[in-house]
Amino acid sequence: MKIGVAGLGKMGSAVAERLMECGHDLVVWNRSPEKIAALTAKGAKAAKSPAALAGEVEAIVTILFDAEAIDGVYRVGDGILAADLSGKLLIDMSTVRPQTSEKLAKDVRARGGTFVECPVGGSTGPARQGKLLGMAGGEPVDVARAKPILDQLCRRFEHFGPVGAGARMKLAINLPLIVAYQALAEAFILCRPNGMDPVQLMEFFADSSGAPSVLKTRGPLIGKALAGGEAIPPAFDVDSIRKDLRTMIAEAKSLGAKLPLAEDTLCIYDEAAKEGWGQKDGANLPAYWPRKFAAG
Ligand code: NAP
Repeated sequence: MKIGVAGLGKMGSAVAERLMECGHDLVVWNRSPEKIAALTAKGAKAAKSPAALAGEVEAIVTILFDAEAIDGVYRVGDGILAADLSGKLLIDMSTVRPQTSEKLAKDVRARGGTFVECPVGGSTGPARQGKLLGMAGGEPVDVARAKPILDQLCRRFEHFGPVGAGARMKLAINLPLIVAYQALAEAFILCRPNGMDPVQLMEFFADSSGAPSVLKTRGPLIGKALAGGEAIPPAFDVDSIRKDLRTMIAEAKSLGAKLPLAEDTLCIYDEAAKEGWGQKDGANLPAYWPRKFAAG
């Protein structure tokens, strides 16, 4: 297929590379042009604008930072919505509020296009390998149309309901992960006086009842960060985590609910960002809070 990817951030670039590897012809666009060269060097074609990209392809995938980025790529100037989208399939994978997806679906449909949301779990590695966890929302016939592409990007994707349902699921699954990073930080403070190697410690934690699943994949990296090292190059970074927490809290407010764990965690991660942690990967976060207190 001829597929467009508009937005070549960490995830967009990985998704574009994966789609090229699957044999699709790729057309790409990004607000900051310097990220385009890595993709054109691998055979993708660069479009002049999101609207020009939309004019050239059968399907478009976007995975953008937030609602403002969606406005920037879809609605501003030569945005995707300036093009005739008749017959085209648009898949948005950004982590945003359900209402953002719903509004986008309405606007895409008004331009003749088919819209499916499919935010994802898993970071740049799984994106590059086609092993994301997808949470689709859309009309059944539209999700069926998107399935061949989603199957190439995801190890598993589930259809949760109409547009908005996928966005809701994505916010929900990220909450326990993000809070778990802070829970690990606080747990580490309790057992740090034993002096055990943090990598071994995380391996033991991974075997315990309260272990978050992230310890299976990132336990050794988190242990390394707790030992004073830097876990890994940024993929799901602290600033994205703060954006997700703000999005969850706003969504809960619209449901008449409060999320005290998410709110407290956001305060702590805002503090971390002020101290220069914003661009670090989230797997480093368990090491932030313990550094504030001398080892007992
Ligand atoms: P990223 O590296 O920061 O990339 C964000 C993309 O959005 C870039 O293409 C950026 O363009 C674009 N963008 C931001 N503001 C814009 C604006 N005002 N107008 C136009 N374009 C704008 O973020 P990412 O890590 O790839 O994440 C993308 C989405 O996937 C987010 O919703 C994130 O929550 C979600 N997600 C991320 C991960 C992960 O591990 N990273 C995992 C699952 C889901 P520029 O290059 O010009 O800044």
